[in-house]
Amino acid sequence: MPDKPSTRRDDHLHRRSFLKSAGIATATTALGMASAWHLAYGAALTKAQREKLTPDDIIDLMKKGNQRFRLGKESPHDYLAQQKASAKGQYPAAIILSCIDSRAPAETIMDLGIGDCFNARVAGNIANDDILGSMEFACKVAGAKVVLVMGHTACGAIKGAIDRVQLGNLTGLLAKIQSAVDATSYQGERSAKNYGFVDAVARKNVELTMAEIRSRSAVIAELETIGAVKIAGAMYNLFEGNNGSGYWGDVFHGTSGLNTVFRNRAVGWETGKTAVTVPVQLESYNRFDNIIGNVLGQFGYHTTYQTSLGVAASASIYDLGAGNTEGLVTVLSDSLVASTLMRWGNYDVVNAAVRFVNSEVPSGISSYANPVPASQTLPPSFYLSAKPSWWPSGKVWPPIGPDVTGGNIPNLAGHAYTIPAQDCYANVMGGPSDGSGTILTFNANTCYAIARPAPPTNLTVVVK
Ligand SMILES: [Zn+2]
Repeated sequence: MPDKPSTRRDDHLHRRSFLKSAGIATATTALGMASAWHLAYGAALTKAQREKLTPDDIIDLMKKGNQRFRLGKESPHDYLAQQKASAKGQYPAAIILSCIDSRAPAETIMDLGIGDCFNARVAGNIANDDILGSMEFACKVAGAKVVLVMGHTACGAIKGAIDRVQLGNLTGLLAKIQSAVDATSYQGERSAKNYGFVDAVARKNVELTMAEIRSRSAVIAELETIGAVKIAGAMYNLFEGNNGSGYWGDVFHGTSGLNTVFRNRAVGWETGKTAVTVPVQLESYNRFDNIIGNVLGQFGYHTTYQTSLGVAASASIYDLGAGNTEGLVTVLSDSLVASTLMRWGNYDVVNAAVRFVNSEVPSGISSYANPVPASQTLPPSFYLSAKPSWWPSGKVWPPIGPDVTGGNIPNLAGHAYTIPAQDCYANVMGGPSDGSGTILTFNANTCYAIARPAPPTNLTVVVK
């Protein structure tokens, strides 16, 4: 999913300042999931191994495989051995429906081996009778336990459907995506040139395809009802471990949703500014976000917990669901932004407390409700399995969160330490304490003299 640039007060700036002083940990995945169930990479999945796995186990393993792919740490595969082992019989755990796009090969980005999954590929990952028949074979006959519909960003088939491209047999295929184009509610330019819109349609297309599988395949629907099969879709961004000004969801240059903001320190303030100084600002249609374990606000400046003022907001921690007017265009306010937002375990300077408040979890909404978590314990990271090897020895990890104590940023009840990138920015590069000022030159060797982290690999940047 894309992020959400805005006008001059400005999501570009907000997001970028989040990123610029962050350095670590902005994992962006678009419609990605993956697998990691191999017990031995020289062998294919066996019947006994598959029997032990629940659909949720399989989805979890898929996510871990995608994590390995994103970190550039794919498992070593002995494809010849996998081929030999699976020649006598196959016991794939899942069927994946994905697009033909050469840049989104499901097995590769999920670090899968031979015999691990069925793979149905068709432009725009739509479900037709033949695809549904293939899924029914995969699940009912061959025993797969997960149906994963995987769309992707910048999809040519989606763009073609938006542009109503007419070309031979492609015309009929693209017509099957048209309902997703029509069903995508979007403020902004509805064209194939607008990446934000293209990706919003791709997400809607995954949702509609999942619904279509359920409604048009009685076989799969029944397997799902009895818990033998799970149908899943995926598309999200994770913003984790950053220190920056704030998180902004705009209306004019594209909304987004389903994003997760985890263990960040968002100050929502800058010297001399009194407008749009809000750590978490989500305008209309930025729905279903998750704000978890963050430390929010500037002590002595923020005085209000929540408002719905939009660009007029100044000293509130959250500003939720406001519309906006620019020129002749008015976007109305949207109460679903607040009611679909999940907040859990965030510290803010207005309450001066960590909030685990049941009413801030969207457990009662009619679509896509999220149950109130049974636990107040948060994982250290949503994408790192352990403290990074380069992490400075004197620095607590994770550095930010409700369970962090003794933090060196004052007036936050000890819940936030400066992150290593921020230490470099302030102490080595000489950046101003509020993050304002001009662009500075970054040199990893001077920042991390002893334990310099390796350059990241497989980063995805979605430009919108
Ligand atoms: Zn595609």
